[in-house]
Amino acid sequence: MNRQQEFVLRTLEERDIRFVRLWFTDVLGYLKSVAVAPAELEAAFTEGIGFDGSAIEGFARVYESDMLAQPDPTTFQVLPWRNEPHGAARMFCNILLPDGSPSYADPRNVLKRQLSRASDLGFTFYTHPEIEFYLLKKKPERGELPEPSDEGGYFDHTPHSLARDFRRNAIMMLEEMGISVEFSHHEGGPGQQEIDLRYADALTTADNIMTFRMVMKEVAIEQGVYATFMPKPFTEHPGSGMHTHMSLFEGDRNAFYEAGAEYQLSKIGRGFIAGLLRHAAEITAVCNQFVNSYKRLWGNAAASAGAGGEAPAYICWGHNNRSALVRVPMYKPRKSNSARIEFRALDSACNPYLAFTVILAAGLKGIEEGYELPPGASDDVWALTDAERRALGIMPLPQSLDEALRVMERSELVAEALGEHVFDFFLRNKKAEWEDYRRQVTPYELERYLPTL
Ligand code: GLN
Ligand code: MG
Ligand code: MG
Ligand code: MG
Repeated sequence: MNRQQEFVLRTLEERDIRFVRLWFTDVLGYLKSVAVAPAELEAAFTEGIGFDGSAIEGFARVYESDMLAQPDPTTFQVLPWRNEPHGAARMFCNILLPDGSPSYADPRNVLKRQLSRASDLGFTFYTHPEIEFYLLKKKPERGELPEPSDEGGYFDHTPHSLARDFRRNAIMMLEEMGISVEFSHHEGGPGQQEIDLRYADALTTADNIMTFRMVMKEVAIEQGVYATFMPKPFTEHPGSGMHTHMSLFEGDRNAFYEAGAEYQLSKIGRGFIAGLLRHAAEITAVCNQFVNSYKRLWGNAAASAGAGGEAPAYICWGHNNRSALVRVPMYKPRKSNSARIEFRALDSACNPYLAFTVILAAGLKGIEEGYELPPGASDDVWALTDAERRALGIMPLPQSLDEALRVMERSELVAEALGEHVFDFFLRNKKAEWEDYRRQVTPYELERYLPTL
């Protein structure tokens, strides 16, 4: 055993912890957990814990279902919401095949593979997510409409409001788990919150996002409310995005920064954006994976009286343009290490491992192939007509899950980045979701057509 593994065992003993949860993520981005007793851990570290992979979404075909979960000791944390005597702790796991090789179906492994491609080119990929979600009065029963927990709006500071206590407790709990929070505020919709995590390497960020969702759900339960990461729970209010700021570092130098260049953006930074734009449609299904995601990506802010809430709908970039898909923020233009770009398509319900994988693959492609960056969009792209947008070469993002899947299906870039197994499973699963949705007769249709037809 190495020092980190020994540290874990010692901490368990010192803190008298009786259960260790081994966490991993299925292909659709749901957190899975198996609890083991500390006595099992030594074997788990060296050989892994066996489980039936065919029971996990996207993991295995039935005839090859034996899989192993091997905990990563660098992700060890005591769970603060079980902080009673004999509490619980967790570690994220790598999933292995019986021969000990990394599983092709483990999203964490898919991301690691892409990160090591980046590192072969000399880059480390850093990300910083702005996570939005809604607090509801309670978990709606079947057929019930969601009810927001408050009536606040953007940056509102309502004294004694539940939202403020919620964010305070939530942030304390995140910090106890070693996850630093940079900002938090009330977002535009009633009950809507945003919490921004401090930047970290993309694997750590993806782990942190999985932990974050769990912590928000737990804190909400404690406060008698319900937290949801559903991309668009209300027709009339903005959806919940997960805008992500990103940069590549070469050692401790920010490779996106170049003093004196336009927007201080280096050739590498420009290539990364060009890659993201050229492959944006192909990676949309992974960044926005549910039927409901596409109700958010309808950013016509003016026409929908704010219900779009600055979610992107068109493929373009801008230096300070909040309607753009990619934005180059200019908060601190002279600070070289803060050079970064913001990708705004992601929603809070994506699988962060797979989303970061395809984003990085698109960005690296742009750098490697030397894609030319088209001119930035200076106008509010929502206010233009379709013809004006076409004249500027600005294409819409896919407008439904169906359309996004059709583009993804033909993408060599996404197939290569996800690997054949995850690519096929994802497409199969999501097509079934679309088919299921497509055959539904909705309340909207009944209200609209029944009275007159
Ligand atoms: N909620 C918006 C979205 O879905 C973002 C609002 C904002 O942070 N400007 O992307
Ligand atoms: Mg923000
Ligand atoms: Mg926001
Ligand atoms: Mg933002």
